[in-house]
Amino acid sequence: MSDVQSNRSGDSPAPRGRVDAVVVGAGFAGLYMLYRLRRLGLSVRVYEAGGGVGGTWYWNRYPGARCDIASMDYSYSFSPELQQEWTWTERYATQPEILRYLEHVADRFELRAHIQLRTRVTAAAFDEATDRWVIRTDDGASVSAGFLIMATGCLSAAKVPDLEGLEAFRGERYHTSHWPHGGVDFTGKRVGVIGTGSSGVQVIPAIAEQAARLFVFQRTPCFSVPARNAPLEAAYESRMKANYAEHRQRARETRAGVIMDVDPRSALEVPPEERERAYQARWEQGGTGFLATFSDVMRSREANETAAEFVRSRIRATVRDPDVAEALSPRGYPLGTRRLCVDTGYYETFNRENVTLVDVKASPIEEITKAGLRTRSAEYALDSLVLATGFDAMTGALTRIELRGRGGEPLTARWADGPRTYLGVAIAGFPNLFTITGPGSPSVFSNAIVSIEQHVEWIAECIAYLRERGFACIEATAEAEEGWVAHANEVAEGTLYPLASSWYVGANIPGKPRVLMPYAGGVGAYRKRCEAVAAQGYEGFSLSRAG
Ligand SMILES: Cc1cc2nc3c(=O)[nH]c(=O)nc-3n(C[C@H](O)[C@H](O)[C@H](O)COP(=O)(O)OP(=O)(O)OC[C@H]3O[C@@H](n4cnc5c(N)ncnc54)[C@H](O)[C@@H]3O)c2cc1C
Repeated sequence: MSDVQSNRSGDSPAPRGRVDAVVVGAGFAGLYMLYRLRRLGLSVRVYEAGGGVGGTWYWNRYPGARCDIASMDYSYSFSPELQQEWTWTERYATQPEILRYLEHVADRFELRAHIQLRTRVTAAAFDEATDRWVIRTDDGASVSAGFLIMATGCLSAAKVPDLEGLEAFRGERYHTSHWPHGGVDFTGKRVGVIGTGSSGVQVIPAIAEQAARLFVFQRTPCFSVPARNAPLEAAYESRMKANYAEHRQRARETRAGVIMDVDPRSALEVPPEERERAYQARWEQGGTGFLATFSDVMRSREANETAAEFVRSRIRATVRDPDVAEALSPRGYPLGTRRLCVDTGYYETFNRENVTLVDVKASPIEEITKAGLRTRSAEYALDSLVLATGFDAMTGALTRIELRGRGGEPLTARWADGPRTYLGVAIAGFPNLFTITGPGSPSVFSNAIVSIEQHVEWIAECIAYLRERGFACIEATAEAEEGWVAHANEVAEGTLYPLASSWYVGANIPGKPRVLMPYAGGVGAYRKRCEAVAAQGYEGFSLSRAG
């Protein structure tokens, strides 16, 4: 187990450190991967660009940030002691609480000694002579590793919009995913928020409470359902903890990694009044369970429209100004095909005197000026500009690293027409490289923690298998990758997702190929497929010995 040496004076031609595995990223995925690899006895180095562990929950410190899957589900299940001893205070934990949890995990399992913070991996190349990866970091160091595991996150590469004049803005500028650690005081300020996706929906009500004026610049209205967040009830907690293992097991077998009570009927076979009552009941319950009101909400355009129209009716009932309500009402894409938002007081915020909705579809943003923002029809003076503009999702964190596989082939070239993987965990031509929640796996269509744990465990078992049998190298075959891509595309075509211009299909990034990146077949079925592949001695992979 050697240390990684730094070479700050310039490029090092040969790696000067050597470890069994490098893991990139120290969020939920990287921390658990490290834990599992250490238990196998591997020397591991984790590189994390941030100044602390936590990933998403280290970076996204904007007011209102919280998870939208119940915390007792949105947490690790691998340690029975941890899940029994940890107590969440709210149904949906806030960012500070989730970050505390992940810091606790890093301490509890003694992970920190293997994590190098404030270090960005800039490049990695597979060396065919040694069957090892050479990984370079932004401090000029390089290391050789037998395995390279990308725990870089699906939503970690921030997207800054290409707006004319952005750099010239004289006020304060923030991106929700790079929020200042000390917080921001908007008291007395004129604030503009660009973006009304999941982060925008969370940050807007919080800023509205503080700012003197808030302008919300909306291009595409979102569908949002109320969170109904509340302090965690002791009775619910003890009920969950009494059956935690069984609950987790059931969750793993579901579509989305969360147990939802799905009405097996079609929305269209139910009389309108009963349908309305069912949607209302889910609306009162809060959370993404709304999508499960009927079995075909995410499969039939017509069924989906009944759910969409219910949400629009709720917007009209909440927002006093009918023109504002109409502007907030999503049309032209099915509900749930852009990430369903979960909010606390989002639509109510637009009844506030100090909040103005600006429809930038109708009147596009022309430029950011020194003093604010100008649309085609008006100018807005701003002290602060908040970009809630999301991420180059799923692939951004991977393609921002100069990754080269066999023959020096860059990943960006292999993925020029969209990401291609085998099971979302491996890439042909990139041996001994694993992607946790990579494109082609359920990832963002699921409770991320369920998907992360499944991938980490599968990868750890795979590495143990290779080591026990003396294999030095594992690589997805081109045929297996081709087959998986074809299968994932076929599954995607049976859903409504391709109908929306969403980040799920890369539509938020100019020039990004349009491909549904997450696997839409559900985590339960996906897990079975991964288990079968392993049980067949890693079917679809070629395994080879050293030399
Ligand atoms: C605001 C917000 C709320 C969310 N809420 C939910 C939710 O309720 N439910 C849900 O299922 N999912 C949610 N997600 C998705 C969330 O990203 C996952 O749940 C989970 O945190 C992902 O963990 P991860 O470890 O895979 O990735 P991340 O937490 O994104 O961690 C990846 C880490 O890799 C580091 N990294 C990336 N590239 C490099 C590099 N080249 N060198 C070094 N380090 C690098 C990053 O700095 C980052 O810290 C949310 C995402 C956001 C942004």
